Amino acid sequence: MNVVFTEVHVGIDDLDSPSGGCTTHAAYRLAKELINRYGARFIDYPNLVRLNPAIPFKTRGNGAVALRFTMPESEFSKASGFIIEFLTNYTEELPHRPETEPGIVIVKGRPKKEFRTLYLKALTDYVPPDIVMDALRESGDVTWHPSGWSRGLVGAAAAVGWLPPHDHTYELLIYRLNCGSERCVDHDSVITMDKETRGETFLNIDPESGRVLITPGGPDPVLCGVRGSRPEVLLKALNIIKVCEPIEGWAIFRTNQHTDAHHVVREASSIRAFQTGCISGTVSSKPITLEGGATLVKVCDSSGCVHVASFRESRLSIVLQHVRVGDVIKVCGSAKFWEGIGTVLQAEKIVLRYVPRYVTRNPRCPVCGRRLKSLGRSGGLKCVGCGFRVAGRWVEYVTVERDVEEGLYLPPPKSFKHLMKPLDRYGHEHLCTELKAPWTEWIR
Ligand code: ATP
Repeated sequence: MNVVFTEVHVGIDDLDSPSGGCTTHAAYRLAKELINRYGARFIDYPNLVRLNPAIPFKTRGNGAVALRFTMPESEFSKASGFIIEFLTNYTEELPHRPETEPGIVIVKGRPKKEFRTLYLKALTDYVPPDIVMDALRESGDVTWHPSGWSRGLVGAAAAVGWLPPHDHTYELLIYRLNCGSERCVDHDSVITMDKETRGETFLNIDPESGRVLITPGGPDPVLCGVRGSRPEVLLKALNIIKVCEPIEGWAIFRTNQHTDAHHVVREASSIRAFQTGCISGTVSSKPITLEGGATLVKVCDSSGCVHVASFRESRLSIVLQHVRVGDVIKVCGSAKFWEGIGTVLQAEKIVLRYVPRYVTRNPRCPVCGRRLKSLGRSGGLKCVGCGFRVAGRWVEYVTVERDVEEGLYLPPPKSFKHLMKPLDRYGHEHLCTELKAPWTEWIR
């Protein structure tokens, strides 16, 4: 008898709390169950989808997960019920469970374009409940849980919508058994792994302090995560890293991390709090340094102006401190509302496109040597000393030393957030154009 297979996409989010659990860990356990119980055949690595880093409800990195597989059609309805029950049990075991608002979305068949639209919005903006509910109702064979509203539905639906084409990377996540204890990963083995996979894994070690960056700090089940450009390289890393505590297992996720996907083009006048993106324009105010070390300047494009800030820790404030009115700049980041100032784009990355190395000033009077005064819009210059006048626009160019240069400025590795693209990845983007079944070992 021919078995008919159906494609299934499961999105999940908010299965963690600040005191335990992790959405990727729940997805890891669920993936194993789906393979063992229902013969699920994965059509992609599990997707770890990072969403808008400016959203205040996030526990850590605003991550959601999508699992994509095929399974016998006859088992689908039983499997849907199992997925919901399994994930509900996972959250019920979490400490301080009331803080979580889990969401589960199950799509039978290839997700419709509404999901992709939702992903792009959830990556770059705030998504209100009605947009999610409308998309879920209008998108074909979709089941969601809970049936009423839960905030986790935003991330769950958005994760399902992270569909090609897109740039992507991979992350190997190793899960520990004892979540209460301090993480035990051999420091020297991480240094070796970093050396042997250089250029293909990133952000393993802080080059300044030597601190290992692959181990998170919270009480969650992630022992460590290695980020890289190919799954094969992550398997190599797995063989080099020595962990010195019992582990539950590991999985390789495909992800939008370190792709700058949230850096969409925006206009200065229209960017709002909780949006991410980049504006390109001209510096139009002198930088000021605020108490606490943040630096603030105004940047204007043809639509209007917006304040841009950078913080001391990101080191980008050193760049902003040295810009001048007239510099041509691109700033990417997340917008927040600052009391007394309004919308402020907090810089994650700065590109200084043009840094003039001159200033202009009125020339001196050829008769008495005093500096000439401009006569306003009509043009022309006048000497207030001797009355000399000249028509037209005349300026003198004066060379000035600048403390910054044109170029791309990024924060140091220790300040990197999940979506931000590290220098190593520039020019090495991986465009994924269609889903492909995992071609390496990916879960254990
Ligand atoms: P972890 O990384 O451990 O999974 P987290 O930082 O991802 O934790 P969550 O616990 O998932 O944080 O909380 C983020 C919440 O915000 C989720 O409920 C998610 O659905 C919701 N959310 C994510 N992006 C947006 C958005 N753009 N607009 C509105 N809500 C959002």
